Amino acid sequence: MILIDGKKIAAELREELKQEVSELKAKHNKVPGLTVILIGDMAPSQIYVRNKEKSANEVGLKSEIIKYPEAVEEKTILDKIEELNKDDTVSGILVQLPLPKHIDKQKVIETIAPSKDVDGFHPMNVGNLSAGYESSVPCTPLGCYLLIKKIESNLSGKKAVMVGRSNLNGKPMAQLLLKENCTVTITHSRTKDLKAECLEADIIVAAVGIPELVKGDWVKKDAIVIDVGINKTDKGIVGDVAFDEVSKVAKALTPVPGGVGPMTIACLLKNTIECFKRSR
Ligand code: NAD
Repeated sequence: MILIDGKKIAAELREELKQEVSELKAKHNKVPGLTVILIGDMAPSQIYVRNKEKSANEVGLKSEIIKYPEAVEEKTILDKIEELNKDDTVSGILVQLPLPKHIDKQKVIETIAPSKDVDGFHPMNVGNLSAGYESSVPCTPLGCYLLIKKIESNLSGKKAVMVGRSNLNGKPMAQLLLKENCTVTITHSRTKDLKAECLEADIIVAAVGIPELVKGDWVKKDAIVIDVGINKTDKGIVGDVAFDEVSKVAKALTPVPGGVGPMTIACLLKNTIECFKRSR
C-alpha cells in the first residue's frame, strides 16, 4: 500500500511555488499578494490564518491579515472587500469562514471579485469549473486532485465515488475528476447503499465529517482512497476512513493528519499565484 505523504508532497509544491514567485518577481518587479480577512477570535480560525500567513511568507508572497472584532458590521466587511478588489497589490482575497451569524456568507463571497477569489467559492468560479473553463478551484479538492494525480497520471475511464456533496469538497472534486474523464458518482446522506457505491470505485474521496465511516469491506482492492475528514475523537484526530482496515485493501491511502490537510494551504498559495498571473 502506498501511504500518500501529503506533508512531503505539499512541501515539494511549496518549493515549486517559491521558485515561480521568484521568477514572477524578476519579470514583473512585483510579487503576488494574499489578503486574509479574519473576523472574531475563534481559536481554530486564528490558527488556520496564522498557518496561511506563515506558508505565504515562506514562498515569498506578500501577505496581509486584516482583523475585525466579532461585532463588526457587515457593511464594513463588504466595503473593505470592494476596496481590496480595486487594489492592484492584492492578487487574492480570502475571508476566513465561519462568519458570525449576523454576516451573510453568500453576500461576502459574491462581493469578492471572481478574479481574486482564491477560495473558488464565487458562483462565477463555480460555474466556470462546472463548464470546464478556467477558474479558481477550491483549495481542498484541488489538493486532493494533485494527490490522486501523483499516484495515477491517467484517470480516464476510472470510476470515482465522492462521499459527501458539499460545495466545499464533494461537488468541486467531482468536477475536477469529470474533467479527467472519470465516471463520477456523488453520494450523500440519502444515498441508499453507500457501501455498494464505494465498492464500485477505483477512486474514493471521503469528505463527510463522520469518523471512520468508510470501512475496509467498502473498498475494492487497489482503489485509491483520499480521506478529507478531520474528526476530533477520544483517540485523537481521525478521518472519515477506517485507516487500519482500508490500508489492508487499498492501493494508496492518505493518512489523517498528514494527508489532505497540508495540501489545502499549499493550494491556497498556488491559487494566489494563478490569480496574479491571470491578472497580468
Ligand atoms: P459538510 O458538512 O459541508 O458536508 C458533508 C457531506 O457529507 C454532506 O454532503 C452530506 O450529505 C454528506 N453526508 C453526511 N452523512 C453522510 C452519510 N452517512 N453518508 C454519506 N454522506 C453523508 O462537510 P465538509 O465541509 O465537506 O467537510 C467534510 C469533512 O472534511 C469534515 O470532517 C471537515 O472537517 C473536513 N475538511 C477537511 C479539510 C482539509 O483541509 N483536510 C478541508 C475542509 C473540510
